[in-house]
Amino acid sequence: MFLSIVIPCFNEEGVLDELYGVLRKEINKNEKISSYELIFVDDGSKDKTLEDIKRLKKSDDLIRYISFSRNFGKEAAIYAGLKASKGDLVVLMDADLQHPPELIHEMIDKIVNHGYDSVGTIRKNRVGESKLRAFLSTTFYKFINLLSDTEIKQNATDYRMMTRQFVNSVLDLSEYNRFTKGIFSWVGYNNIDIEYENIDRTTGTSKWNFMNLFKYSIEGIVAFSTMPLFVSSILGIVSFIISSVLLLIFFFKAIIFGEVVKGFPTVICSIFFLGGIQLLTIGILGQYLSKTYLEVKSRPIYISKEKSE
Ligand code: UDP
Ligand code: MG
Repeated sequence: MFLSIVIPCFNEEGVLDELYGVLRKEINKNEKISSYELIFVDDGSKDKTLEDIKRLKKSDDLIRYISFSRNFGKEAAIYAGLKASKGDLVVLMDADLQHPPELIHEMIDKIVNHGYDSVGTIRKNRVGESKLRAFLSTTFYKFINLLSDTEIKQNATDYRMMTRQFVNSVLDLSEYNRFTKGIFSWVGYNNIDIEYENIDRTTGTSKWNFMNLFKYSIEGIVAFSTMPLFVSSILGIVSFIISSVLLLIFFFKAIIFGEVVKGFPTVICSIFFLGGIQLLTIGILGQYLSKTYLEVKSRPIYISKEKSE
């Protein structure tokens, strides 16, 4: 089998040599792999990542690379790498060795001998991550699964092996706002997940901060669920009903009992309440509109500045 290994890299200087060494060792061990290609996608790195890749390529002709004109984000790098891949089997993994390369044997076995179309991975624990980040992440997965029909497994990673057919289906979804974890689930097929112990990053630093992760979460929800729009409409209907009932009550009180309607605080409260709901729903609407806007412009997902071939 011809195996493609796709590796998105953003500022990963000094990491790639070790990764390459480990990968070569694992590839040589597996007799099912007749040939391979290593596709490095340099996502606009500001450090010596591209130089590292080019140096590796000098020693191994089977290495290919794409270098972006700027940082387009991991999702774009994944798309570019999958698009460039030619293998019967394609495996996607991080550059930082947090995705144990020795799992590829089990993945190949699941696909070749058990007929699966893709093998995903799940981290068993979150070693080396702050409690807060782990908590926020758990909450996000609960929330997105509640809202969306597409199941997104908690602690699922992007480390995955896929058949050619699966990859082609993923590439058919050529949307601009890419939430790859959701796309992998959305395309269907016969999937299995394998678990592994989380490994802390040894070299380099994680590219994520809270703001990035927050944006990523919103992206995921907007890309795979229209439930928030539905909830906004429900909020609108509920507040309309409540205010109509209140209006009737005050009207009859005034007509029948001749009561002067008091209640400056009530007025203030309702203004704030309704104002809040309105802003919230407009905000939600805005999120979808902005994504639609980006989609309609149909800009390319990435721009490659340099390629190996
Ligand atoms: N990455 C990328 N573009 C980005 C951010 C990250 O290609 O804008 C790559 C990065 O080089 C690594 C992988 O995505 O290979 C995962 O990134 P990282 O290790 O920072 O994330 P974490 O493991 O902390 O989730
Ligand atoms: Mg990492």
